[in-house]
Amino acid sequence: MLLDYHIHAAAHGEYSYSWSWLEQFMNTARSRQLIEIGFTEHDEYINMIDFQLLERIRQENDDITVKIGLEVDYWEGREKEIRQIVAGYPFDYIIGSIHYIDGWAFDHPDYKDKFDSMDLDDICQRYFDLVNSSVRSGLFTVIGHIDLVKKWGHRPVKHNLRYYTKDVLNNIKKSDLTVEINSAGLRKPVAEMYPSREILELMAEMKIPITLSSDAHHPSEVGVGVAEAASMAWAVGYREIASFSRGSRIMLPLVL
Ligand SMILES: [Zn+2]
Ligand SMILES: [Zn+2]
Repeated sequence: MLLDYHIHAAAHGEYSYSWSWLEQFMNTARSRQLIEIGFTEHDEYINMIDFQLLERIRQENDDITVKIGLEVDYWEGREKEIRQIVAGYPFDYIIGSIHYIDGWAFDHPDYKDKFDSMDLDDICQRYFDLVNSSVRSGLFTVIGHIDLVKKWGHRPVKHNLRYYTKDVLNNIKKSDLTVEINSAGLRKPVAEMYPSREILELMAEMKIPITLSSDAHHPSEVGVGVAEAASMAWAVGYREIASFSRGSRIMLPLVL
């Protein structure tokens, strides 16, 4: 029983919503035996979302449950704006993601050279401080690609990523949030899931709920890597995955 809770139909604005475009996402989901998928555009492209079309897709595909979420960029000071953005539609869930460290788009290929001129431990500390603030903001249901800072393969020197994640995980547990296992990292230079297995082991010990995602930016990527994500979750002790309906979490059995 697999789901994919992180899909961008508009990608980074290069595709637009149409029935035939969305059907391609549904067809891939069907071919990969997904029972549930969630469309989650970047909030930057919220005006490109055709909510009526999504509702129709939802109604006319009864073999796959369709959820409507949003992936929201978090940075400190943006809380009020985010509250206004998410109030406009009854989303099933909101993914909170860090794509900027103090204005630096660290995960964008054009700006990755900056990693070479900065202290990697300082970058990690600042990145996870921001994740921590996003957790404490109370604005999100799911924490997106929690250790994205490793995307280009850079590693902190003084401590490992598990060390930097610990405080964040404590706050996630306290706030009862869900963390996605995002397979996109497998397709990036780091070549591992977000989060890595050692962080997921820590999450399993703490009983932090998980969901599964591909972070697809094209129909061909729907469901890619979610079976591997599910296997990794099973291996570290997970037996349930989270789904969401209008903000409420529903736990489903994890079936490989
Ligand atoms: Zn993202
Ligand atoms: Zn995404």
